[in-house]
Amino acid sequence: MMVVTEHIGGGPLVVSMPHSGLKLSPGLEQRLSPEARALPDTDWHIPELYDFLAPLNATIIAAEYSRYVIDLNRDPSGQSLYPGQATTALVPVARFDGEPIYRDGEAPDTVETEARKRDYFEPYHAALERALERARSRHGYAFLWDAHSIASEVPRLFEGGLPDLNLGTNSGASCAPVIEAEAVRMMQAATDFSSVSNGRFKGGWITRHYGRPELGVHALQMEIGQNAYMGGAPGYAFDPAKAARLRPVLNSIISAALDAAAEFHAGASS
Ligand SMILES: [Zn+2]
Repeated sequence: MMVVTEHIGGGPLVVSMPHSGLKLSPGLEQRLSPEARALPDTDWHIPELYDFLAPLNATIIAAEYSRYVIDLNRDPSGQSLYPGQATTALVPVARFDGEPIYRDGEAPDTVETEARKRDYFEPYHAALERALERARSRHGYAFLWDAHSIASEVPRLFEGGLPDLNLGTNSGASCAPVIEAEAVRMMQAATDFSSVSNGRFKGGWITRHYGRPELGVHALQMEIGQNAYMGGAPGYAFDPAKAARLRPVLNSIISAALDAAAEFHAGASS
Protein backbone atom coordinates (compact mmCIF):
# COMPACT_ATOMS: atom_id res chain seq x y z
CA MET A 1 0.00 0.00 0.00
CA MET A 2 1.56 3.27 -1.15
CA VAL A 3 0.59 6.02 1.27
CA VAL A 4 2.88 8.75 -0.01
CA THR A 5 4.40 9.72 -3.35
CA GLU A 6 8.03 10.82 -3.03
CA HIS A 7 10.03 12.60 -5.64
CA ILE A 8 13.56 13.14 -4.39
CA GLY A 9 15.35 16.31 -5.50
CA GLY A 10 18.81 17.50 -4.58
CA GLY A 11 18.03 21.04 -3.45
CA PRO A 12 17.04 22.50 -0.08
CA LEU A 13 13.40 22.85 -1.20
CA VAL A 14 10.90 20.29 0.14
CA VAL A 15 7.28 20.69 -1.01
CA SER A 16 4.62 18.91 1.04
CA MET A 17 1.13 18.22 -0.38
CA PRO A 18 -0.82 16.68 2.50
CA HIS A 19 -4.41 17.25 1.31
CA SER A 20 -4.37 16.47 -2.40
CA GLY A 21 -4.85 12.69 -2.05
CA LEU A 22 -8.00 11.13 -3.49
CA LYS A 23 -7.82 7.52 -2.30
CA LEU A 24 -9.92 6.05 0.49
CA SER A 25 -8.86 3.28 2.86
CA PRO A 26 -10.41 -0.18 2.20
CA GLY A 27 -14.15 -0.22 2.89
CA LEU A 28 -14.34 3.48 3.71
CA GLU A 29 -16.29 4.71 0.69
CA GLN A 30 -19.43 2.74 1.61
CA ARG A 31 -19.41 4.31 5.09
CA LEU A 32 -19.35 7.90 3.83
CA SER A 33 -22.37 10.12 3.29
CA PRO A 34 -23.21 10.54 -0.42
CA GLU A 35 -21.98 14.16 -0.38
CA ALA A 36 -18.69 13.21 1.29
CA ARG A 37 -17.91 10.60 -1.38
CA ALA A 38 -17.16 13.44 -3.80
CA LEU A 39 -14.34 14.50 -1.37
CA PRO A 40 -15.40 18.18 -1.49
CA ASP A 41 -12.72 19.34 0.97
CA THR A 42 -9.77 18.12 -1.11
CA ASP A 43 -6.91 20.50 -1.98
CA TRP A 44 -7.77 19.88 -5.64
CA HIS A 45 -5.16 19.51 -8.42
CA ILE A 46 -2.22 20.65 -6.28
CA PRO A 47 0.36 18.35 -7.97
CA GLU A 48 -0.79 19.59 -11.40
CA LEU A 49 -0.69 23.23 -10.30
CA TYR A 50 2.87 22.77 -8.97
CA ASP A 51 4.20 21.07 -12.09
CA PHE A 52 6.99 23.68 -12.36
CA LEU A 53 9.14 22.42 -9.45
CA ALA A 54 11.67 20.25 -11.28
CA PRO A 55 14.10 23.10 -12.20
CA LEU A 56 14.13 24.07 -8.51
CA ASN A 57 15.49 20.59 -7.62
CA ALA A 58 12.62 20.17 -5.20
CA THR A 59 11.77 17.09 -3.19
CA ILE A 60 8.01 16.52 -3.35
CA ILE A 61 6.11 14.59 -0.68
CA ALA A 62 2.46 14.11 -1.65
CA ALA A 63 -0.35 12.25 0.10
CA GLU A 64 -2.09 9.47 -1.79
CA TYR A 65 -5.06 9.26 0.60
CA SER A 66 -7.83 11.73 1.29
CA ARG A 67 -7.86 13.97 4.35
CA TYR A 68 -11.08 12.11 5.27
CA VAL A 69 -8.88 9.08 6.12
CA ILE A 70 -6.65 11.20 8.35
CA ASP A 71 -5.60 14.84 8.26
CA LEU A 72 -1.81 14.96 7.90
CA ASN A 73 -1.79 18.65 8.86
CA ARG A 74 -3.25 18.25 12.35
CA ASP A 75 -1.57 17.61 15.71
CA PRO A 76 -1.51 13.79 16.16
CA SER A 77 -2.37 14.35 19.83
CA GLY A 78 -5.76 15.63 18.62
CA GLN A 79 -5.25 19.19 19.87
CA SER A 80 -7.22 21.83 17.91
CA LEU A 81 -5.38 23.89 15.32
CA TYR A 82 -7.41 27.03 16.02
CA PRO A 83 -8.76 26.84 19.59
CA GLY A 84 -12.11 28.61 19.91
CA GLN A 85 -12.65 28.71 16.12
CA ALA A 86 -14.36 26.27 13.76
CA THR A 87 -11.80 23.89 12.29
CA THR A 88 -11.65 20.22 11.35
CA ALA A 89 -10.04 17.38 13.30
CA LEU A 90 -7.22 14.84 12.91
CA VAL A 91 -9.76 12.19 11.88
CA PRO A 92 -12.59 14.45 10.81
CA VAL A 93 -16.24 13.47 11.13
CA ALA A 94 -17.61 16.77 9.79
CA ARG A 95 -17.01 18.38 6.42
CA PHE A 96 -16.04 22.05 6.02
CA ASP A 97 -19.75 22.87 5.66
CA GLY A 98 -20.41 21.23 9.03
CA GLU A 99 -22.38 18.31 7.59
CA PRO A 100 -21.41 14.71 8.47
CA ILE A 101 -18.70 12.83 6.57
CA TYR A 102 -20.08 9.47 7.73
CA ARG A 103 -23.44 7.78 7.50
CA ASP A 104 -25.13 7.19 10.86
CA GLY A 105 -23.13 4.87 13.10
CA GLU A 106 -20.20 4.60 10.68
CA ALA A 107 -17.76 7.10 12.25
CA PRO A 108 -14.42 5.58 13.34
CA ASP A 109 -13.77 4.64 16.97
CA THR A 110 -10.50 5.21 18.84
CA VAL A 111 -9.04 1.86 17.76
CA GLU A 112 -9.59 2.72 14.11
CA THR A 113 -8.23 6.24 14.67
CA GLU A 114 -5.01 4.80 16.12
CA ALA A 115 -4.70 2.38 13.20
CA ARG A 116 -5.06 5.24 10.71
CA LYS A 117 -2.34 7.16 12.54
CA ARG A 118 -0.01 4.19 12.24
CA ASP A 119 -0.86 3.31 8.62
CA TYR A 120 -1.26 6.75 7.01
CA PHE A 121 -0.02 9.57 9.28
CA GLU A 122 3.28 8.07 10.37
CA PRO A 123 4.57 7.04 6.90
CA TYR A 124 3.86 10.52 5.49
CA HIS A 125 5.69 12.24 8.30
CA ALA A 126 8.55 9.75 8.22
CA ALA A 127 9.04 10.61 4.53
CA LEU A 128 8.82 14.34 5.24
CA GLU A 129 11.31 14.10 8.10
CA ARG A 130 13.77 12.16 5.94
CA ALA A 131 13.46 14.75 3.17
CA LEU A 132 14.10 17.66 5.53
CA GLU A 133 17.01 15.90 7.18
CA ARG A 134 18.54 15.07 3.79
CA ALA A 135 18.27 18.72 2.69
CA ARG A 136 19.68 19.95 5.97
CA SER A 137 22.66 17.62 5.98
CA ARG A 138 23.48 18.49 2.36
CA HIS A 139 22.89 22.26 2.41
CA GLY A 140 22.96 23.17 6.08
CA TYR A 141 19.29 24.17 5.95
CA ALA A 142 15.94 23.05 4.57
CA PHE A 143 13.11 25.06 3.08
CA LEU A 144 9.65 23.51 3.55
CA TRP A 145 6.74 24.75 1.43
CA ASP A 146 3.44 23.24 2.59
CA ALA A 147 1.11 23.44 -0.42
CA HIS A 148 -2.63 23.81 0.14
CA SER A 149 -5.79 25.12 -1.43
CA ILE A 150 -9.36 25.61 -0.27
CA ALA A 151 -12.69 26.75 -1.71
CA SER A 152 -12.61 30.55 -1.90
CA GLU A 153 -15.82 30.71 0.13
CA VAL A 154 -16.50 28.48 3.16
CA PRO A 155 -18.97 30.36 5.39
CA ARG A 156 -18.45 28.07 8.38
CA LEU A 157 -14.66 28.58 8.39
CA PHE A 158 -14.25 32.23 7.35
CA GLU A 159 -16.28 35.30 6.46
CA GLY A 160 -16.61 36.40 2.84
CA GLY A 161 -14.18 35.49 0.09
CA LEU A 162 -10.64 34.34 0.82
CA PRO A 163 -7.69 36.19 -0.79
CA ASP A 164 -6.06 34.22 -3.63
CA LEU A 165 -2.77 33.75 -1.79
CA ASN A 166 -2.66 33.14 1.96
CA LEU A 167 0.85 32.81 3.34
CA GLY A 168 1.24 31.30 6.80
CA THR A 169 4.37 31.32 8.94
CA ASN A 170 2.81 30.78 12.36
CA SER A 171 2.85 34.59 12.71
CA GLY A 172 6.55 34.74 11.88
CA ALA A 173 7.77 31.87 14.11
CA SER A 174 8.27 29.17 11.44
CA CYS A 175 10.97 30.80 9.28
CA ALA A 176 13.62 33.52 9.34
CA PRO A 177 12.02 36.97 8.97
CA VAL A 178 13.99 37.79 5.79
CA ILE A 179 12.54 34.71 4.08
CA GLU A 180 8.98 35.66 4.91
CA ALA A 181 9.70 39.25 3.85
CA GLU A 182 10.88 38.11 0.40
CA ALA A 183 7.83 35.87 -0.03
CA VAL A 184 5.52 38.73 0.93
CA ARG A 185 7.32 41.14 -1.40
CA MET A 186 6.83 38.83 -4.37
CA MET A 187 3.22 38.12 -3.38
CA GLN A 188 2.48 41.85 -3.31
CA ALA A 189 4.26 42.37 -6.64
CA ALA A 190 1.77 39.98 -8.24
CA THR A 191 -1.00 42.55 -8.45
CA ASP A 192 -3.37 40.24 -10.37
CA PHE A 193 -3.76 38.14 -7.22
CA SER A 194 -4.99 39.28 -3.81
CA SER A 195 -2.85 38.16 -0.90
CA VAL A 196 -2.38 38.20 2.86
CA SER A 197 0.25 36.97 5.30
CA ASN A 198 -0.86 35.25 8.51
CA GLY A 199 -4.51 36.11 8.00
CA ARG A 200 -7.18 33.46 8.63
CA PHE A 201 -4.61 30.76 7.76
CA LYS A 202 -1.39 31.02 9.75
CA GLY A 203 0.03 27.61 8.90
CA GLY A 204 -1.20 24.27 10.14
CA TRP A 205 0.50 21.62 12.22
CA ILE A 206 3.11 20.81 9.55
CA THR A 207 4.30 24.43 9.38
CA ARG A 208 4.30 24.80 13.16
CA HIS A 209 5.90 21.43 13.91
CA TYR A 210 8.70 21.44 11.34
CA GLY A 211 9.38 25.18 11.14
CA ARG A 212 12.43 25.55 13.41
CA PRO A 213 14.48 28.40 11.94
CA GLU A 214 16.97 28.16 14.80
CA LEU A 215 17.77 24.61 13.59
CA GLY A 216 17.89 25.60 9.93
CA VAL A 217 14.41 24.41 8.95
CA HIS A 218 12.26 27.18 7.48
CA ALA A 219 8.59 26.37 6.88
CA LEU A 220 5.98 28.36 4.98
CA GLN A 221 2.41 27.38 4.19
CA MET A 222 0.62 28.59 1.09
CA GLU A 223 -3.16 28.29 1.17
CA ILE A 224 -4.56 29.17 -2.26
CA GLY A 225 -8.16 30.24 -2.79
CA GLN A 226 -9.36 27.78 -5.43
CA ASN A 227 -10.96 30.52 -7.56
CA ALA A 228 -7.38 31.43 -8.49
CA TYR A 229 -6.93 28.26 -10.59
CA MET A 230 -10.23 26.38 -10.72
CA GLY A 231 -13.52 26.92 -12.52
CA GLY A 232 -15.63 26.84 -9.38
CA ALA A 233 -18.01 24.17 -8.04
CA PRO A 234 -19.59 21.89 -9.04
CA GLY A 235 -17.12 19.53 -10.60
CA TYR A 236 -13.94 20.89 -9.03
CA ALA A 237 -12.51 21.43 -12.50
CA PHE A 238 -8.99 22.64 -13.09
CA ASP A 239 -8.84 25.85 -15.17
CA PRO A 240 -5.69 25.63 -17.31
CA ALA A 241 -5.80 29.32 -18.33
CA LYS A 242 -6.04 30.52 -14.73
CA ALA A 243 -3.37 28.05 -13.63
CA ALA A 244 -1.04 29.33 -16.36
CA ARG A 245 -1.26 32.81 -14.81
CA LEU A 246 -0.81 31.57 -11.26
CA ARG A 247 2.16 29.23 -11.76
CA PRO A 248 4.77 31.93 -12.54
CA VAL A 249 3.61 33.84 -9.47
CA LEU A 250 4.04 30.80 -7.21
CA ASN A 251 7.40 30.13 -8.85
CA SER A 252 8.54 33.72 -8.22
CA ILE A 253 7.48 33.63 -4.57
CA ILE A 254 9.19 30.30 -3.88
CA SER A 255 12.32 31.23 -5.83
CA ALA A 256 12.74 34.59 -4.08
CA ALA A 257 12.20 33.04 -0.66
CA LEU A 258 14.65 30.22 -1.51
CA ASP A 259 17.27 32.78 -2.55
CA ALA A 260 16.72 34.61 0.73
CA ALA A 261 17.22 31.35 2.63
CA ALA A 262 20.44 30.61 0.77
CA GLU A 263 21.76 34.10 1.46
CA PHE A 264 20.72 33.92 5.10
CA HIS A 265 22.62 30.68 5.63
CA ALA A 266 25.64 31.77 3.60
CA GLY A 267 25.85 34.78 5.88
CA ALA A 268 25.41 32.66 8.98
CA SER A 269 28.28 30.30 8.12
CA SER A 270 30.88 32.85 6.94
ZN1 LIG B 1 -4.96 21.83 2.77
